[in-house]
Amino acid sequence: MSVFFVHGSVETSTETPYIKGLERAALKGWEKLTATESRIDSLEAAINELEDNPLYNAGLGSVLNRDGYVEVDGSIMDGETGKFAAVASMPLIRHAVSVAKKVMLETKHVVLAGEGAFLFAREKGFPVDNCITQEQLQSWQLAMDLQKSGQELVFSPYTGLRKETDTVGCVMLDDRGRLAAASSTGGSFLKLPGRVGDTPFIGGGIFASEHCAVVCTGRGEAFIQTLTAKFVDDGIQAGGHPEQVGREAIRRMFEKTGESGGLLVVDRHGRVAAVHNSDSFPVALVVDGKVKQVEVVQIDT
Ligand code: ASP
Repeated sequence: MSVFFVHGSVETSTETPYIKGLERAALKGWEKLTATESRIDSLEAAINELEDNPLYNAGLGSVLNRDGYVEVDGSIMDGETGKFAAVASMPLIRHAVSVAKKVMLETKHVVLAGEGAFLFAREKGFPVDNCITQEQLQSWQLAMDLQKSGQELVFSPYTGLRKETDTVGCVMLDDRGRLAAASSTGGSFLKLPGRVGDTPFIGGGIFASEHCAVVCTGRGEAFIQTLTAKFVDDGIQAGGHPEQVGREAIRRMFEKTGESGGLLVVDRHGRVAAVHNSDSFPVALVVDGKVKQVEVVQIDT
């Protein structure tokens, strides 16, 4: 049994184009796994599909930071080998997860950040790309205008002024029971330049082991401070069901921080859970190459 489980983050639209984009990504992952048997390559294929899709806050279409440009975070972790790699706050490159994969496979390092990550990506042949779409630029300009005129800014930290677009993540299980996870994001709208979210924090926003694979989304600072991804891994290792552990993890994150977010998890038996305490959390599940319906658990906090 193989599983690809993909999310488009909390507060993102659940309308058809958003769900279809997630389904396409999960199917891309499955196709790549079938062709190559590589967990890392299959996750890269799934996440690249979403980084290329301007509907999500990852790669092209990422939210802009306070100073009007995009800095992306991306990470990848293999549960079988325990290998993890990430890039943080990287400007001018679209495929954060692919650069993270290169860090994992072609360097002795685990995380590259900022200008160093950008220079590494250029050395490896990644094209320069400001990742800015007209919609996100307008959103940022509107925020600046509102700020200048002294009006209160009402926006989602995850999706900006547009309540549609957000971070992406994928967890997977191959048919030999091995697990892996990957995530990519433009981070939070109007963040300070250099700010790093939970995506590249092992144990915070991502974790994979022989027990489960987890990705988190929402207010990154909250997931870092509560080590939520590792909390889920510990709970499943102790015999918990993914849904029960996912519920506990989101409730605990909320109780400690007052923030909202969501997570995806798959365990080595192929049991999955999507849990959040927000107003929406679009996901797509592909099992053995077929799109399946899945219940998304919304916790009232
Ligand atoms: N967790 C991401 C961050 O804080 C944002 C998100 O998931 O929406 O960078």
